[in-house]
Amino acid sequence: MVGGGVIGLCCAYSLASNGHEVTVVERDRLGSGASRGNAGEVCPDLVEPLAAPGVILSALRTLHRPDAALHIHPALDADLLRFLLGFARNATRRRYRTGAAALASLAHNTFDLFEELGVDANRNGFLFAYGTSSSADHARRGFAALGAPVGELLFDLPDREPCLAAGARAGFVVEDQWSLDPNAVVDALAARLRTLGVSVIEGARVTRVVEGARVQVHTSAGTVESDAAVLAAGVWTRELGRAAGVDLNLFPGKGYSFSVAVDKMPSRLVHLGDAHVAVTPLGDRLRIAGTMEFDRDHDRFHARRIAAIVRAAGPYLAGVDWAGRRDEWVGPRPMTPDGLPAIGRLPRHRNVFVAAGHNMLGLMLAPSTGKMVAGLVDGEKAPAAFDPGRLARAW
Ligand SMILES: Cc1cc2nc3c(=O)[nH]c(=O)nc-3n(C[C@H](O)[C@H](O)[C@H](O)COP(=O)(O)OP(=O)(O)OC[C@H]3O[C@@H](n4cnc5c(N)ncnc54)[C@H](O)[C@@H]3O)c2cc1C
Repeated sequence: MVGGGVIGLCCAYSLASNGHEVTVVERDRLGSGASRGNAGEVCPDLVEPLAAPGVILSALRTLHRPDAALHIHPALDADLLRFLLGFARNATRRRYRTGAAALASLAHNTFDLFEELGVDANRNGFLFAYGTSSSADHARRGFAALGAPVGELLFDLPDREPCLAAGARAGFVVEDQWSLDPNAVVDALAARLRTLGVSVIEGARVTRVVEGARVQVHTSAGTVESDAAVLAAGVWTRELGRAAGVDLNLFPGKGYSFSVAVDKMPSRLVHLGDAHVAVTPLGDRLRIAGTMEFDRDHDRFHARRIAAIVRAAGPYLAGVDWAGRRDEWVGPRPMTPDGLPAIGRLPRHRNVFVAAGHNMLGLMLAPSTGKMVAGLVDGEKAPAAFDPGRLARAW
């Protein structure tokens, strides 16, 4: 297993549960990519590809604003252009519908492994809050069309959740969705792998995976030989694919988060819909997460994106100690142009598999991805919708 993010860990868990001998190779420490600082949403009724009809126009309208959720690096390179063109091609009603259906099928039963891991979950559903009743109503109708259990429009949000300010004018609750502490998920998976006898090598960067009679995984700490390898290195899977002659159209959509103290902790995860910010209660602090930055450098942290989140979320929240924020973090969402992950064989390989490209949904889709990958290694077929070949170009 190449990569110790939540996807690699869940794949290792399912493979080991099926009786395989598994080694996880992680270049840093487990959960070093996007898996620890995310918003912790597990919301199988709300899954949809980002490339929705109309999303490009509405993004272009806000792009110039300093508090815009979307930021695109002005120096477009070939990879970013290829990604954005693919994204535009997918933002049609038909592709959005088929993509949403494929994601919904993958999200089905997503709660099972989280139950099995025994990680605490907040099961109170999500509250969506908006600055105007028309934007709340528009969003509510969109979620209802996905079949989500949406409640009535509400106009008394600060009475219901005192961490909300008067700027949160209207909203609604979606029941039956969970929020989790992503750190706790990574740690619980690591503990479970230990009990299953999975060998975990941290601090070893995989440089190349070569398929011959066996699969050789070359790392900075030596070579691991195996019957099969799974590339689950989040957005860095692209580099590994390239080293094997296949260029997968994966691009980092960097997101940021931080934690703050708040006078009144909300009883459930709150989505600031117009601000595109998620507010997750985690213990005695709130995690505030948001922004989508398309920038070539996967790891670079820009303090101005944190400032953009503070500016965007500020009018909606009350009693927040913004100045005392901690745990500032950036992580690359592994984005694909059609919003669907790549789960299946690496093109032109028999025993090298890919499990990457989970966009904004990797925590939620990790358990079902793990099960699917274990099935593939055992000879099952993956649904064509997730075939990595659709993202590939010979290198
Ligand atoms: C701000 C933000 C909020 C989000 N909120 C949610 C949410 O609420 N719910 C949800 O489901 N998803 C959410 N996501 C998305 C989710 O975090 C990702 O989809 C998920 O973490 C991807 O997991 P991964 O294991 O594929 O990749 P990663 O988490 O990036 O893990 C990849 C791992 O591979 C390792 N690696 C890389 N290269 C190599 C190499 N050459 N050799 C060895 N190891 C290597 C990395 O160090 C890393 O540990 C959010 C993301 C962000 C940024």
